Amino acid sequence: MTRPKLIELVLKNLFSKPATVQFPYQKTDVEPDYRGIQYADLTKCTGCSLCAIECPAEAIKMIQIPPGYEGVNPLNKRMIYPLIDYGKCVYCYRCVKICPVNAFITTNKYDIAGASRPTSEELSLSTLKKVS
Ligand code: SF4
Ligand code: SF4
Repeated sequence: MTRPKLIELVLKNLFSKPATVQFPYQKTDVEPDYRGIQYADLTKCTGCSLCAIECPAEAIKMIQIPPGYEGVNPLNKRMIYPLIDYGKCVYCYRCVKICPVNAFITTNKYDIAGASRPTSEELSLSTLKKVS
């Protein structure tokens, strides 16, 4: 590269907008159909465990619904639900597609970093009514 060309390039880059984004201070655009975190609606979930069995990343663990919640699907006799470990999930949405009762709620949320390991616990339990 000739010297004038090099100077031109340096000046151009010096005054152009940076290509990088200052995430998380600056949010990035996300497509509405982006595969973000998903969670089970416990008013629909029957506790069949199919999603946990089929998950290729072993990111789903079936756990007990804690006491003090109303609105659980009456077919969910064992009172269990799929807890998703978002740190293990590869967002293939196999669980979403395979669920026989379409219990999964999908989102385009991806910003889940935090102090504790993110799971679907809070979101799934929020689909029920807390009574105590
Ligand atoms: S496949 Fe659907 S109904 Fe079965 S445990 Fe998973 S979310 Fe619940
Ligand atoms: S999206 Fe895929 S990896 Fe994530 S919990 Fe569902 S089946 Fe498992």
